[in-house]
Amino acid sequence: MGRLVMKFGGTSVADLECIRNVALHVEREVKAGHEVAVVVSAMAGTTDTLIDLCRNAAPMHDAREYDAVIASGEQVTAGLLAIALQERGIPARSWQGWQVPVKTDGVHGAARISEIEAGEIRKRMEQGQVAVLTGFQGIGPDKRITTLGRGGSDTSAVALAAALEARCDIYTDVDGVYTCDPRIVPGARKIKRITYEEMLEMASLGAKVLQTRSVELAMVYKVPLQVRSTFEPPDSDDQNSSDRAGPGTIVCDEDETVEQQVVTGITYSKDEAKISIRRVKDQPGVSAALFGPLAEADISVDMIVQNVSADGETANITFTVATRDVERALEVLKPAKERIGYHELHSATGIAKVSVIGIGMRSHAGVAARMFKALADRGINIQAITTSEIKISVLIDAAYTELAVRVLHTAYGLDAT
Ligand code: ADP
Ligand code: ASP
Ligand code: MG
Repeated sequence: MGRLVMKFGGTSVADLECIRNVALHVEREVKAGHEVAVVVSAMAGTTDTLIDLCRNAAPMHDAREYDAVIASGEQVTAGLLAIALQERGIPARSWQGWQVPVKTDGVHGAARISEIEAGEIRKRMEQGQVAVLTGFQGIGPDKRITTLGRGGSDTSAVALAAALEARCDIYTDVDGVYTCDPRIVPGARKIKRITYEEMLEMASLGAKVLQTRSVELAMVYKVPLQVRSTFEPPDSDDQNSSDRAGPGTIVCDEDETVEQQVVTGITYSKDEAKISIRRVKDQPGVSAALFGPLAEADISVDMIVQNVSADGETANITFTVATRDVERALEVLKPAKERIGYHELHSATGIAKVSVIGIGMRSHAGVAARMFKALADRGINIQAITTSEIKISVLIDAAYTELAVRVLHTAYGLDAT
């Protein structure tokens, strides 16, 4: 039956009863003849609590110690799941990131996996032992514990699947990827198959069901990926589904999907802040002087809009950054006022980015116009627009986020019938 990596998120391992339920899912796959590795997150809420503890201990804490603390939640669930599996007579052992090792770069709090030495795990899996790996953790070049950023267990799972040449099933509290976050749009529909490219856009534009980096890795290493439910009964016929489509959402190459809608999904992100500089000289080099120092400070800029001001000689430039970066961006720009040559600097939070995504856009005209009209009909003002081949994003007042998302969901014919 081949090798399989099963990943369970925080709500899937929230308490002992949930962990026993996870053991039943694992048992089903072992009995079906798979060699299984499991990747687990910390119990729901644990990572948040650990982050708060670090912040309260010292606002400017050592990033290496922060990682040592916040990686600990996964250690508990990996051990508990190994015990629960052993209780059911299934040979299992837990693996910490450093024990494998899962090697990463040294960027504490947002490390990237460089290599997983999975030889020993593979050997034991062949002998019938289930490997239970702590998600989210790795070991840096300085031999200190690192973490992969929020939601990073998805990435641990896909990276392990790539190293083991295995399939990867992501078990979570929804039964697949939906046309929109089902918590916001009750009429959202489950997508049967979605391309890696579309999933990558959806993840990076706000659908937190998969961490963006995990989709990138799956795309590069061609890992067969499925998102499915932890809370369907583990022994139901649906979970055993021999249906080629699988019980959840399959993330796959474009040639494996059946093209249906122009727009596949809609996402939103409230994690946006807007910075405007007014009355800068409209001459070559201004944008370089503005965005160069921001790049050097490792601040990612997203949407950029430039318009000429009334006098025809100066321009206004507006751009967005993640909310967490806005203070740092202002600190970079204030001292550079003379060099950039602007008159005023403003910043604003309380804005949101709403995006529509779909590979069908490549071959259809009028997709953007439909978006703008749907928003205009509800009196929602668009502050900025960006597009790529398969997505259109607009910036709006955050107060209208839910309304905008629902209106667009209907406008593109995505509502469940
Ligand atoms: P886990 O703890 O299992 O990693 P997450 O909370 O990280 O789970 O991700 C699952 C959640 O993602 C769902 O509960 C859902 O609210 C949210 N979500 C956002 N957008 C989507 C989407 N398009 N499809 C499915 N779930 C989505
Ligand atoms: N426990 C980590 C978090 O809450 C990693 C994960 O759940 O994927 O971000
Ligand atoms: Mg997650």
